[in-house]
Amino acid sequence: MSARGEFDLIARIASRARHVDVVRDGVVLGIGDDAALLRMPPGKLLVVATDTLNDGVHFPPGTAAADIGWKALAVNLSDLAAMGAQPAWCTLSLSLHDADPAWVDGFLDGFLALAALHGVALVGGDTTRGPLSVCVTVHGVVDPAQVLRRDGARAGDDVWVTGTLGDASAALAQWRAGGAAEPALRERLDHPEPRVQAGLALAPIAHACIDVSDGLLADLGHICDASGVAARVDIDGLPASPTLRSMFTAETRRVLQASGGDDYELCFTAAPSQRDAIAAIAARLGIAMTRIGAVVDGSGVAAVDAAGQAWQSPQTGFDHFNRG
Ligand code: ADP
Ligand code: MG
Repeated sequence: MSARGEFDLIARIASRARHVDVVRDGVVLGIGDDAALLRMPPGKLLVVATDTLNDGVHFPPGTAAADIGWKALAVNLSDLAAMGAQPAWCTLSLSLHDADPAWVDGFLDGFLALAALHGVALVGGDTTRGPLSVCVTVHGVVDPAQVLRRDGARAGDDVWVTGTLGDASAALAQWRAGGAAEPALRERLDHPEPRVQAGLALAPIAHACIDVSDGLLADLGHICDASGVAARVDIDGLPASPTLRSMFTAETRRVLQASGGDDYELCFTAAPSQRDAIAAIAARLGIAMTRIGAVVDGSGVAAVDAAGQAWQSPQTGFDHFNRG
């Protein structure tokens, strides 16, 4: 795009970012200089995460600009949630085919709505011409004693998951099959709700945590690898939405729930002594938290059906470079 178009867009973004009702301490200097200046609360660790969304890879072509804006921030906030961090600031790198102000306005509608919900200030970014791609970096703060890492799971822990699993991958599957996705499922794909409050509440309690972006078994496998333990998961005990239950056979549902990505729920482990505390957090936040298995000695993740038989998923977690 022309330099003019780029400056106009940045001015538009800056002006809208300023008008978001974001009360976030620590922004000494935001958009407009060569870099932002941010002040950390004393004694906290800075938590940084980046995720990119590419057209046709991370969202179906033709996805509404506002939905892309929401999701670009949501997937990043989900990473902070999985660390038990409080989100604070973000930057936004946009690659656009052309300087289309209407598209950028729509994008900002979604992006800034979610930013306002979590009190996240947009403090900088980059705007270039190229294939449609959105890269967001989020910055958060966390108490060093309460970080939720992947490597803290212990044999004997319960395995838990927030919310329900499978809706987003069901929507993707319906879209890939050439049909329109069922609206409630599509909503989960387009508007993931980052579990920020759950992450903060669980931080003092959970031993390990990850957000489910690539599929439950794959992501829980990352916890097990990092922690040097194994996990057993009750495949028929995974929480499913009423829509998912009504639309798919039990076996298809198992695949979607165990291996499908994009749910952005939190999978975490905690000692059995914390069951009541976790139930209380779930009730306070209005977010389901379901015990789905146990951490055991060994390595790998085993899924077991209600009859105690091992269940093998026909597909592993989504892998960009291995889609055979
Ligand atoms: P520079 O050439 O110094 O990188 P830019 O022209 O890229 O400057 O950016 C000017 C200012 O606008 C900087 O403060 C930058 O952080 C901000 N900015 C640019 N693009 C975006 C964007 N997409 N979202 C938020 N801020 C942006
Ligand atoms: Mg720049």
